[in-house]
Amino acid sequence: MIKKLPAKWDETWDVVIVGSGFAGLAAAAEAAGKGAKVVVLEKMPTYGGNSIINGGVYAAWDSKYHYRQKLNLGDDSPRQHVEDTLKGGDFYNIPELVQIMADGAADALNWMIDEGGARVRETVTRAGGHTAYRTHSAVAGVGREYTEALRKIAEKRGAKTALNSEVTWIWRKDADPKSPVLGVQVKRGRRTLNIKAAKALILASGGFSRDIKMRMAHNPRLVPAFGCTNQPGATGEMIRFAQAIGADTLQMNFIQLYPFAEPETSILDTPAVYPFNGPGYGIVYVNKLGKRFVNELERRDVCAFAQINLGANMKPTWSIFNRAMVLKMGGSYEEVDAGLKKGRFIQADSIREMAGKLGIPADALVKTIEDHNRYIEQGKDPDFNKSITKVMIPLVEGPFYSVAQWPAVHHCMGGVRISPTAQVIDVFGAVIPKLYAAGEVAGGVHGSNRLGSNAIPDAVSFGRVAGTNAARERA
Ligand SMILES: Cc1cc2nc3c(=O)[nH]c(=O)nc-3n(C[C@H](O)[C@H](O)[C@H](O)COP(=O)(O)OP(=O)(O)OC[C@H]3O[C@@H](n4cnc5c(N)ncnc54)[C@H](O)[C@@H]3O)c2cc1C
Repeated sequence: MIKKLPAKWDETWDVVIVGSGFAGLAAAAEAAGKGAKVVVLEKMPTYGGNSIINGGVYAAWDSKYHYRQKLNLGDDSPRQHVEDTLKGGDFYNIPELVQIMADGAADALNWMIDEGGARVRETVTRAGGHTAYRTHSAVAGVGREYTEALRKIAEKRGAKTALNSEVTWIWRKDADPKSPVLGVQVKRGRRTLNIKAAKALILASGGFSRDIKMRMAHNPRLVPAFGCTNQPGATGEMIRFAQAIGADTLQMNFIQLYPFAEPETSILDTPAVYPFNGPGYGIVYVNKLGKRFVNELERRDVCAFAQINLGANMKPTWSIFNRAMVLKMGGSYEEVDAGLKKGRFIQADSIREMAGKLGIPADALVKTIEDHNRYIEQGKDPDFNKSITKVMIPLVEGPFYSVAQWPAVHHCMGGVRISPTAQVIDVFGAVIPKLYAAGEVAGGVHGSNRLGSNAIPDAVSFGRVAGTNAARERA
């Protein structure tokens, strides 16, 4: 559907960006740094989208601090990161896009540290589906650490953000391959404005996990009964507007469940990040029978469906860890204390006591943990074939902690089709002039299943590519 173009423009900017998460802010910083006049349009009353509430875990083979090397946690490389990401996505990923994420990850992290003041904790973890210790944890424990860094860089370079500004249409004369995108229609309070994008429009509007109708249209398995970890604005209208002016989409059915959300509210709070960060240090997942049900180093889809397949009457499952693991897995004692106060973490001095507190058969839980301790000692997990590493900690010394977990709808791997230059491709395979996309709104980086902690490097790296290229367009 192509609508009649506006007769006049209310505002003109060189680069107009939809969405103020990692991708939008990184794009704004780069475009403004190249001298473009930039505005970020955000429909919500606060900035940051899913990015600001995110768990702050960031996959990169290296950083300026070289923690993996200093802590003797084995080898890694961008190549290995690419291979893990492709395998984790069942090779549905577009390899050129994966390469850009992996190559850009360390540089983007260092950029946010050096220019934006982002801080990371002195450890790296090995999370499900990754074969290396490469996941960095933000000091703040949430994505705000990076959104604030990006916001500062973008603002320092002159980019502006307009909140409560909902984009309600993309203006393009027609779907001819030579026809550029011209601007957007915006609802701001009671006003409807038309904003011209003289150089380019960048879509950084995130995924559609909160849009139950849209997600079920693509993946009918994700019925409304599933909770969702996302902020309320994670709806997919920008993808539909992009399609209406000719954009292609791909892999829209690939929607990820986060396996470890809070079981009743589906919130992904700080305690819910511990099960994700723990496997490389020996965290154990158990069910109501006190038994393990999956290899803890498995990918998210495997962990999520291992729980769902237990049956709804087996909700929740738990992660069990001890104090010795906390700092290594990117946690902090303050977070543990706060989680205990809220009742999110449960503490016990023995595994038997923990079983009592969780209402799990004590003999079964004790046996499971003893078996797992022996597997760590022997370097072999005959139950689930987990790859045991020398830094895994047996659950011998207390205090022990547990956190309840259950899957919730989390991340859209599919979205609009982009080129390695972050330009949006139309349904006939041609670039749509002056239209870019980056972050969760774009598909193809993660294939059928995103590896946890890959979304931040994806969004920031592609945001940078989109911003840089958009600023180079001719006005
Ligand atoms: C709770 C949670 C925890 C997570 N933890 C991690 C983690 O630790 N590590 C990791 O790698 N990934 C994590 N993820 C995934 C990751 O956070 C997201 O994929 C990432 O933030 C997406 O960034 P983005 O910039 O593409 O989109 P977002 O950050 O979602 O930003 C998109 C913005 O666009 C706005 N918008 C949408 N439509 C319009 C419109 N029509 N007009 C104007 N504005 C619009 C939205 O309101 C939103 O603010 C997590 C996700 C969630 C939900």
